[in-house]
Amino acid sequence: MDDLSVQVPLSCPTCGCTEFSEVSGQDQDSADERRFICAHCGVAISRDQLTEANSASIDATIQDMGDDIISALSKDLKKALKRKGWKVK
Ligand SMILES: [Zn+2]
Repeated sequence: MDDLSVQVPLSCPTCGCTEFSEVSGQDQDSADERRFICAHCGVAISRDQLTEANSASIDATIQDMGDDIISALSKDLKKALKRKGWKVK
């Protein structure tokens, strides 16, 4: 249910790359603090930050388009993300 991996279509807030590798190990006590490394620019980002960065870009896209169809599509996208356990506004 909580299987986030490289195929999740979220993009790096720094460079826009959509490939990430998950960092594991280092801090066993904080499983919630999973971190991902961007495959392109190497930035390390937490799951929360990644979610936040991408929900912001989703919202920005909606505002940009200002279109009912886009917003309907985005609702579906958010629903899909929520099913994956992402916090989306
Ligand atoms: Zn990047």
